[in-house]
This record gives sequence, structure tokens and C-alpha cells, in this order.
Amino acid sequence: MHYSLFSLFKNALNGHRGWTPTWRDAEPRLNYEVIIIGGGGHGLATAYYLAKNHGITNVAVIEKGWIGGGNVGRNTTIVRSNYMLPGNIPFYEHAMKLWEGLEQDLNYNAMMSQRGVLNLYHSDAQRDAFARRGNAMRLHGVDAELLDRDGVKAMAPFLNFDNARFPIQGGLLQRRGGTARHDAVAWGYARAASDRGVDIIQNCEVKGFVREGGAIVGVETTRGTIRAKKIGMAVAGNTSKVGTMAGLRLPIESHVLQAFVTEGLKPLIPGVITFGAGHFYVSQSDKGGLVFGGDIDGYNSYAQRGNMPVVEDVCEGGMAVMPMIGRLRLLRSWGGIMDMSMDGSPIIDKSGIDGLYLNCGWCYGGFKATPASGWCFAHLIAKDQPHEVAAAYRLNRFETGAVIDEKGQGAQPNLH
Ligand SMILES: Cc1cc2nc3c(=O)[nH]c(=O)nc-3n(C[C@H](O)[C@H](O)[C@H](O)COP(=O)(O)OP(=O)(O)OC[C@H]3O[C@@H](n4cnc5c(N)ncnc54)[C@H](O)[C@@H]3O)c2cc1C
Repeated sequence: MHYSLFSLFKNALNGHRGWTPTWRDAEPRLNYEVIIIGGGGHGLATAYYLAKNHGITNVAVIEKGWIGGGNVGRNTTIVRSNYMLPGNIPFYEHAMKLWEGLEQDLNYNAMMSQRGVLNLYHSDAQRDAFARRGNAMRLHGVDAELLDRDGVKAMAPFLNFDNARFPIQGGLLQRRGGTARHDAVAWGYARAASDRGVDIIQNCEVKGFVREGGAIVGVETTRGTIRAKKIGMAVAGNTSKVGTMAGLRLPIESHVLQAFVTEGLKPLIPGVITFGAGHFYVSQSDKGGLVFGGDIDGYNSYAQRGNMPVVEDVCEGGMAVMPMIGRLRLLRSWGGIMDMSMDGSPIIDKSGIDGLYLNCGWCYGGFKATPASGWCFAHLIAKDQPHEVAAAYRLNRFETGAVIDEKGQGAQPNLH
């Protein structure tokens, strides 16, 4: 069913009884050309682009829970391409360009809102670092503007400019950045992939792999054995668990990241704002709630909830940059499991085992990557060659030392 003003009007006249389910709830078949494990944003986008870009429609997406139950429906919805390193800039800009046409492409309202992402700086040294990042972005054709204090004041006068420890000196702004409604992105990709023939199989957990002569040729699931020529893994925070089933020890640790939402306010925050002297980022949802988050909890965990010390740390960050946030009531908090890689950058590569392909290591920046991740993973699976904008995301970089350490923190996942 095509969504349009006309279909809305038609269904309004018949009491909204004409709508069909958003996607087919498929039963698993015995054999597919490609299986994607993980029905998060990345797995669904991969299935969609396999069908759309490469004509491979005999595809199953196997999800242990429900569509949107993983990180794709738990993140703080921030979309941006303000990266500095050569391996990252072309990839995230490719993602940004796909975001810009995504709703038309999927015929689904993902509430993509390019309201700007503003990174505040609080010292001369930080200004210089941000100027360097902005220059790198502009050299690659990505939009970036360095604002001084007055420039930031004009956008966000409510910020605490004269905080004694962290006075705000200015900010790096990417106007094309913003937010998209996270679970609508999952639903949109699921619907568009299903329309092209992809089977979306929920409540089906992968418990093991089927091997023949060293190659992986299928998966053992809670709904039986399913075979395929190629299998892509896009399980985010469960990467090490599923990798272990295949005998892989990957450079990934799982950590919990929390997010928070307040009661609704009238429009206050113009875009996304990030504090430069601590870990705090905030935007306002269309319902009016302030959506914010900070650092990961800093210990390995598969729990989708976090602990109080990080709640306190995030709220302190919020209070430092916008003290009036202290008068708001916090409605909800939740957690998601992050697949933290050792250099903070992702892996889109063959696994080294015939038939198995890897998509992981998204840390807490994977939502913004969703369209390009799917695009490039589909390319890798279809052609057995990395896509040019994801060519740096190889698994062997941890052997060769060609790491992509955007933050310059070294092999310490809890710091990325
Ligand atoms: C609180 C929070 C805030 C974040 N904020 C941002 C942000 O603002 N911007 C940004 O860019 N990124 C953000 N992220 C990161 C982003 O959400 C993730 O990097 C991204 O969603 C991961 O990819 P995914 O959507 O495919 O993951 P998921 O949605 O987690 O998909 C993986 C799926 O695999 C399934 N699975 C796992 N094991 C199995 C199995 N054995 N069999 C079958 N299925 C399995 C899981 O159930 C899950 O549905 C945030 C994350 C969190 C938790």
C-alpha cells in the first residue's frame, strides 16, 4: 500500500478500515540466498538495499525479538556527518545524503528533521581542535560553520555562557545534522524491504551456525534450521555472543549506554546541542520532551538498563550547560547494548569464514550510519568487495595498525 495524501483521505472516509499491516509477518523457509541476522536498523537497511540495489530479493531478516526492540529504537536519534578522519568522512556523508532522501525513497515518514547539530567549545585549545575538524569536513564537501560566542547566543540564549569552570566560547555547527524518529526508520526499512520480497521473521533467535567443509551455510534458530548461501551478521550489542557461535573472537566489547527523556515543554531547543567539557547531548522531541544522554556506563554488560552513577554524571553535565534543566521532571530512562570496537569505528567486512559477513563495532554512533551501513553491507554481500566509502572498515586493521581512532583514545573501548 502506497502512503499518500490520497490514501489518507480515502481511509479517513471508510473509518480507517482499509489500512494493511506495515509489513508481512513471514514464516521462515528452509532456504534463502541471503540471511541477515538482526532486525535492527542496519540489518533491515541491508536487506532493503540488497533487494533495491542488487536485485537480491530471496532474503530473510532473522530477529530474536521484535522489530525496533534493539538499539535502533533506543537511541537519542541524532544524525550528523561531522567526522574528521579520512576513513570516516566519506562514509558518514554518504549516510547523510541518503538520510536527506530517505522518506521519499521508503515512502515512509521517518520525521527526519535537519535542525542542526551544535558542538560547544569551552577553551581556545578546543576551539582550535573544532576548527581543524570543521576544515577537514569542508575540504570533503561537508557543511561546517565555526560560531563564536555571539553566534551561539543568537541560537541558544538559554545556555550557561558564564559557567566559571566551562564558559561557552562558541561552537561547531553542522546545519544539515539533526534528528530522525528512530523506530520509524526501522519500520520504514522493514516495510520497504518486505514490499520487495524480503521475509522479516521476528521472535526467531539464532542459536548456532550450520557448517559444511569449513564454510557457514546456514543458521540454527529457535524456529528450526535455515540455510543460505551468504549470511550477514548485524546484531550490534550481541556481536561477541553471535561471533562466538561461529568461533570468532572479535575486537568488540559490549557496554550499556543510557538515554533519558523529560516531561514535555514548549519548543525550546532549536537543534541538537552537545556539551564540550563533559559528556552530555540534548535535543527536543516533537512531543516536547528533552531527550538526552551521555557516556556509557563503563563496564561490560548485556543488560538493557544502566546504573545511578552515570545518571548522576549525565545530569551534572546537563546542569552545567543549561541549569534550568534541573527544574524538569525526568519521565523515563532506558539502556541499550553498544558494540564498542577498539578504535571507536565500525567493521563492515568478510569474517574470514566463507559465507559469513560482519557488520559491527558501531559504538554509540550507529544510528546516523544506518542507511550507509545497509548500503555498503549489501554491496559487500552482493559483490564480495567492500564499497569504496566503507573501504577503511576492515577487520584486519587491528592487525595492521591502520586503526581509525576519531577520538585519539587508543584501544580503550570505554573511552570511545
Ligand atoms: C541510549 C542510546 C543512545 C544512542 N544514541 C545515538 C545517537 O544519537 N546517534 C547515533 O548515531 N547512534 C546512537 N546510538 C547507537 C545506535 O543506536 C546503534 O549503534 C545502532 O542502532 C546499532 O545498529 P542496529 O540498529 O542494527 O542495532 P539493533 O537495533 O540493536 O539491532 C540488532 C538486532 O539484532 C538482534 N539480535 C541479537 N542477537 C540475535 C540473535 N542471536 N538472533 C537474532 N537476532 C539477534 C537484536 O535483538 C537486535 O534487534 C545510541 C544507542 C543507545 C543505546
